[in-house]
Amino acid sequence: MHPENGYTRLPPDMYAAVVPEAARHPVLLAWNDALAEELGIGGWADDDDARARIFSGSKLPPDSKPVALAYAGHQFGYFVPQLGDGRAALLGEVVDASGTLRDIQLKGSGRTPYSRGGDGRSWLGPVIREYLVSEAMHRLGVPTTRALAAVATGEHVYREERLPGAVFTRVAASHMRVGTFEFLAARKQTDALEVLADYAIDRHYPEARAADDPYAAFFDVVTSRQAELVARWMAVGFIHGVMNTDNTSIAGETIDYGPCAFMDEFRHDKVFSSIDHHGRYAYGNQPAIAQWNLARLAECLLQVSDSQAAFETALSAFPERYNERYRRLMRRKLGLSGNEPGDAGLIDAWLGHLEDNALDYTLSFRKLATRVSSNDDAHFGDVERQWRERAVGRGATPEEIAASMNAVNPLFIPRNHRIEQAIQDAVDGDMRVFRELQTVLAQPFDDHRELAHYADAPQPEERVFQTFCGT
Ligand code: AMP
Ligand code: MG
Repeated sequence: MHPENGYTRLPPDMYAAVVPEAARHPVLLAWNDALAEELGIGGWADDDDARARIFSGSKLPPDSKPVALAYAGHQFGYFVPQLGDGRAALLGEVVDASGTLRDIQLKGSGRTPYSRGGDGRSWLGPVIREYLVSEAMHRLGVPTTRALAAVATGEHVYREERLPGAVFTRVAASHMRVGTFEFLAARKQTDALEVLADYAIDRHYPEARAADDPYAAFFDVVTSRQAELVARWMAVGFIHGVMNTDNTSIAGETIDYGPCAFMDEFRHDKVFSSIDHHGRYAYGNQPAIAQWNLARLAECLLQVSDSQAAFETALSAFPERYNERYRRLMRRKLGLSGNEPGDAGLIDAWLGHLEDNALDYTLSFRKLATRVSSNDDAHFGDVERQWRERAVGRGATPEEIAASMNAVNPLFIPRNHRIEQAIQDAVDGDMRVFRELQTVLAQPFDDHRELAHYADAPQPEERVFQTFCGT
């Protein structure tokens, strides 16, 4: 572990030293060997028991000085000045194989000074969910925090009922959030804001250092990363569910897998989260919310920069940057080469057809690929004919078009009903569905003959309508 924790450069009221609570009987449930290799931490532990001890918080890795981080944030539009890692302990940073610093954090390892009324624990459900969904996102090409380990603690936590406890190990490019900046801005700690912004620039966007106003350049690149991130969410049909500013990463990764979900049938106004009563974080609102969150970051940085016009320019460029990236991804999903004036309309017509007919978002793209050399429009109606006219005759053969679509349109996504099944079985000590999901989600574009049923949309009685915060 890197001996110096970068966050300890920040003012002392932004973090607190913590001691993870030891688990009684830690048992390793999942271990990401490839990621461990990438992080160069193979030497920390050479068997599952030793890994279970470290990644439950029972034994610290070499040089680790764990901290919990403070932040603030806008939650559902309302500012909360004091939040923080209430059930997380940052073990520290490591330098990975490509020379990049990565944070390693335990979630569910006990109380911290930011726990308020909470127990600092996690039950097995959110651990299984984050493990599967974050690794699936990575394989789908979406920037995300990663899953290193899941450990059962052998203890119980009490929610509405008695549930098995677990600890999740998250790996992140960093844990700086829009809310981290808001914490200092709300207190008018401008010197500290500069320290934080400089740290974020050094760690993530060193090229901004050379600009006339590094803070404006920093904001510009953070804006681009968010545009790219949300475009990728939209293209895979992902709903984050709780896009509060404290869940918006400065590094542009998807962070905080609470009530998130992949859509089955396509709907712009789709909401799963049990606490999102007004649909603020509905699927179709995500780009606008990302821009709103970036406006909150701009307000913070304008305490340390005079370049108001540059901030306004970057912020107002967000919709166009987002649209450009989103359309590029959608053209690839639809097998459209080049960029033609009618493409945006065709994308809208396609989505309109899916929505009007309650069709499965993911599987419809795979189905469409099989229709490329048909000469009727039997399956998707009029839009299928429009699509075929646009897709073929631009140099690629029908087989090449279909292959290019299948290379970017997954067969397997972490569907809610399957995750629920994996969780229920894991509570009963059966990890088979979890492991099979890991297998298909690791290669989501391939056929997995034996496991093909994991591609299916839910039967009416299997459908999941609500997801819950990961506590
Ligand atoms: P999240 O929905 O994961 O972003 O959590 C919202 C806030 O509640 C964060 O500040 C968490 O640290 C805190 N929190 C969630 N679960 C717990 C828990 N079991 N114990 C203490 N704090 C928690
Ligand atoms: Mg959070």
